[in-house]
Amino acid sequence: MSSPCALPSLGLPPTDEDRAGLPKLEKRLLRRAGEAIQAYNLIEEGDRILVGLSGGKDSWALLEILTTLQKRAPINFEVHGVTVDPGFPRFEPDRIAEECERRGVPHFVLGAPIDALVRAQPESTPCIICSRLRRGVLYTYAKTQGFTKIALGHHLDDLLETLLLNLFFNGRLAAMPLRLQSDDGANVVIRPLGTCDEADLQRYAWLKGYPIVPCGCPLCGASALESRRAQAKELIATLQGSIPQIKSSMLHALQNVQPTHLLDLGLGAASASGWDEGVQRLG
Ligand code: SF4
Repeated sequence: MSSPCALPSLGLPPTDEDRAGLPKLEKRLLRRAGEAIQAYNLIEEGDRILVGLSGGKDSWALLEILTTLQKRAPINFEVHGVTVDPGFPRFEPDRIAEECERRGVPHFVLGAPIDALVRAQPESTPCIICSRLRRGVLYTYAKTQGFTKIALGHHLDDLLETLLLNLFFNGRLAAMPLRLQSDDGANVVIRPLGTCDEADLQRYAWLKGYPIVPCGCPLCGASALESRRAQAKELIATLQGSIPQIKSSMLHALQNVQPTHLLDLGLGAASASGWDEGVQRLG
């Protein structure tokens, strides 16, 4: 799971000329999310969806896109917001609750002792523990309250950076699924923005004027995991200078896997039976 930390919003307020581009941008985001929802069967009739709202740009855009699609979709589903309060003194969950109330979206705040954990073990891998804690709190709440899906605001850049992080640091070929059933089968996580460009979401959030709520974590931008993710982001951005279509090509690669051209024995790369003894003799 990627870091829940939000990027800062763009600084200056949008001009009328900037705002004129909003309908086209919104249409593109709705189309991308709609296509992903359809292709990966992310939302079904009667779903009760719990949207993770960190107060960052992606989570607000996700809420907006899901509530817009809710009005247009041929099926019925519910949208609720939930915020995990990590306990950082500067985090303001009330601002998220106020915005949800203004939009008529039911919203809940769940506490998780992440602040205490980060302070107690600053030298450990707090981002991994933080992500696990947040996920645990969300899963438990969704399960006990009868929510059928948990929607998270990860976007295409998150998927591609995760792909590179797994490739470079974990020896695995894996990104993030758009639909994932938890190990115990009790929860389904969906990522409707998984094919949307982060730059589009950032601009969308800026034009919409969402109340961006910083998470307040002292490790934001400073942890080892975050700096590795920043490296992956920078690498893609650098390559994009000479390969403009790199992100769409990487996305297509994720949708066009050729297992026979990889070396994973579990995916059908043939095992040569009868060679065991000979290979052992080679030492
Ligand atoms: S920087 Fe802080 S809030 Fe962000 S993932 Fe790491 S521990 Fe969690």
